[in-house]
Amino acid sequence: MLVVMQAHATEEQVRAVCQRIEGLGLKAHPIPGSMRTAIGITGNQGAVDLGVLESMAGVVECIPVSKPYKLVSRDIKEENTVVRIPTPAGEVTVGGMPLAVMAGPCAIESPEQAFAVAEKVKAAGAHLFRGGAYKPRTSPYSFQGLGEPGLKILAEVRERYGLGIVTEAVDHESLELVEQHADVIQIGARNMQNFSLLKRAGRARKPVLLKRGMSATLDEFLMAAEYVMAEGNYNVILCERGVRTFSDFTRNTLDLAVIPAVKQRSHLPIVVDPSHGTGKRTKVLPLSRAAIAVGADGLLVEVHHQPDRALSDGMQSILPEEFVQLMREVQQIAPVVGRSMDALAATAR
Ligand code: PEP
Ligand code: MN
Repeated sequence: MLVVMQAHATEEQVRAVCQRIEGLGLKAHPIPGSMRTAIGITGNQGAVDLGVLESMAGVVECIPVSKPYKLVSRDIKEENTVVRIPTPAGEVTVGGMPLAVMAGPCAIESPEQAFAVAEKVKAAGAHLFRGGAYKPRTSPYSFQGLGEPGLKILAEVRERYGLGIVTEAVDHESLELVEQHADVIQIGARNMQNFSLLKRAGRARKPVLLKRGMSATLDEFLMAAEYVMAEGNYNVILCERGVRTFSDFTRNTLDLAVIPAVKQRSHLPIVVDPSHGTGKRTKVLPLSRAAIAVGADGLLVEVHHQPDRALSDGMQSILPEEFVQLMREVQQIAPVVGRSMDALAATAR
């Protein structure tokens, strides 16, 4: 259910409608747009009696939302959501005209490794640094990540290089710590339908990067984002990272068609991860070019200075010099699709 307010509705009128909604035992989500504010209603099991809201001052109309996802939908917000990420070097935006590039190793292995990669990706123009301290691995005997010491290394990368940090939380305990140390909380493909974790991320005060599950349909992907938003965290960045198909020459099949499909249905930004999407170093640059051409809001790329020695995902990690080339190519494609590469606003703190 959606309450559309008049273009000139006052803040008090919006507040009064929200209070009335909450008084009915429901949750109100005021979403300001450039033309008007819309108020999403969640928490209702069936139809809501709208008469009482429709007659309130400042209300234009109440619209039932037929889609299973509400807050994620373009019905509630016509214009694109721009997620704003404060970093020591200034504000990084995801979802506006500028493209955002997040780069770094799969896992944080040591301070030396993290600093070596951070220095290179920063110099090449990356906007955010990625790296896992908690790694969801298929085998319990594989490297599981450094845990909290890994987060401390990431915090140091932030300090030294001025890069905002994207890192994964795998459970409630790690989410607490990731929320403290990172700028963006990553929810991995394997946890896309961990509803308890999604709800916790929805109560976090940091933006969430939500990766598509490897067998998730588009509706399931959007419903996972709805879980986060329904708890009040509207700063969600979607990430296409490939799905599992019969095609076995790549690790996953990168579903680039999902980008325009998401754009049609949702106002949320979506970035592409060509590293997990292909699993092969040689495929990362071509698929990065394609991702930008098809309308993605940015990239999440694994980079390692010694990929042959990487403790995870070395096969798909590109070398720093390949990342330089990737940035060069993306920079050339960006203006063709009406985008730019200056995601870092010149608002250094
Ligand atoms: C990762 O980003 O390193 C990762 C584990 O990704 P995914 O959840 O997409 O497999
Ligand atoms: Mn990885």
